[in-house]
Amino acid sequence: MKYKLETIPLWDAFKEETECPFCFLKEKAEKRYLKYYLGNSAMNPETRVELNITGFCPDHFGKLLIERSPQHLGLITHTHLKDWRADLEKRFPSGKNGTSLFSRWSGPKGSETGEYKKTNDSRIQGCLICDRIERTIQRYTFTACFLWKRDEEGFRSILKSSKGFCIPHEGDLLLMASEILKQTEQDDFFVLVKDLQKKNFQRLEEELDWFTQKFKAENNSQPWGNSEDAHYRVIQKLTGKRTDH
Ligand SMILES: [Zn+2]
Ligand SMILES: [Zn+2]
Repeated sequence: MKYKLETIPLWDAFKEETECPFCFLKEKAEKRYLKYYLGNSAMNPETRVELNITGFCPDHFGKLLIERSPQHLGLITHTHLKDWRADLEKRFPSGKNGTSLFSRWSGPKGSETGEYKKTNDSRIQGCLICDRIERTIQRYTFTACFLWKRDEEGFRSILKSSKGFCIPHEGDLLLMASEILKQTEQDDFFVLVKDLQKKNFQRLEEELDWFTQKFKAENNSQPWGNSEDAHYRVIQKLTGKRTDH
């Protein structure tokens, strides 16, 4: 697959020195897409067709609600609802000779799931914003592998001194490396990421340990050091989800 290089945002993300530069980029992309789908550009016919079919996951519908753009949200959910309504016959398929209506929906007992349920489930799981974020992260993991390969502007040492990645993005990065790097490069990259993660998971563990110790009365007057928000950062490291604090 062909990917686009996007170096500047990636450099900026590494400068932030967060627990995961890809989470930082994901958050920025998510904000951009939330605005996009509530803006005028989302009203163009092609986007509307996509939007009517796919819609958003519960998390992103929730975030769209928080953006407080009720008119736009009303318009896009209106046509999305119409699309589901037009699908009603497919959702409630008519029976054929001797087949129970319900089994056409769910599949006969002991068989694979019915055709309708499969289609419906995959439609429910679709989300335009999740899809676009995934493609964005692919571009950035591609860029990171590319910069590492060429060692452009000292990227290897920047990567080595970074705080590593969250677990989901660690996987995305390794997957990209296996797709685009040569076998020997893959092995070097794999070791580098492993060492980086090992060092930073240990750091976080120590920070979280001090965080828990701080609640003991005898440590009341001791400084927090880097530990005051360790619990937030650990959650991000484990889940890839940045939590505001
Ligand atoms: Zn991440
Ligand atoms: Zn989503």
